[in-house]
Amino acid sequence: MGSCIFCQIIEGSIPSAKIYEDEHVYAFMDIMPVTKGHVLLIPKKHVENIYDFTEEDAANFFAAAPKIANALKDEFIPVGMNLLQNNGAAAGQTVFHYHLHFIPRYDETDGFDLAKWESKQDEFTPEKVQELAATLRGKISQ
Ligand code: 5GP
Ligand code: ZN
Repeated sequence: MGSCIFCQIIEGSIPSAKIYEDEHVYAFMDIMPVTKGHVLLIPKKHVENIYDFTEEDAANFFAAAPKIANALKDEFIPVGMNLLQNNGAAAGQTVFHYHLHFIPRYDETDGFDLAKWESKQDEFTPEKVQELAATLRGKISQ
């Protein structure tokens, strides 16, 4: 999928703040984080949405999810975490390569409102996000 932005991130032709990869998945910081530590987990195989997964694809993909969640939990000590993913433009999907959002929650005043989905790029600059990625990389077991 030459034109797919997330396939290009996996190939390395578009830079990303990677935190983890294995044979099946790639995890990196969202470029427009809604809270501290907002991560995206994607399958290396181009799958547009949940409907296109085989059972094996799903098993391979979700095997990595607890590793990412626990690294975020250990590093940032959130009080909760939203795992979210959108299927179809009507549901808010903007990148049509399947991705699971990990959104650590700090308290009810962390400013994240699902209905508004406002990013915090002023607080989490590209440099700051690279720093967060570096700390997370050290937390995830291979
Ligand atoms: P969706 O709305 O499709 O569920 O979420 C797409 C997500 O991908 C958004 O949160 C957006 O910030 C993120 N995103 C889009 N383009 C890029 C990119 O080039 N790099 C990174 N790291 N994240 C991206
Ligand atoms: Zn893709």
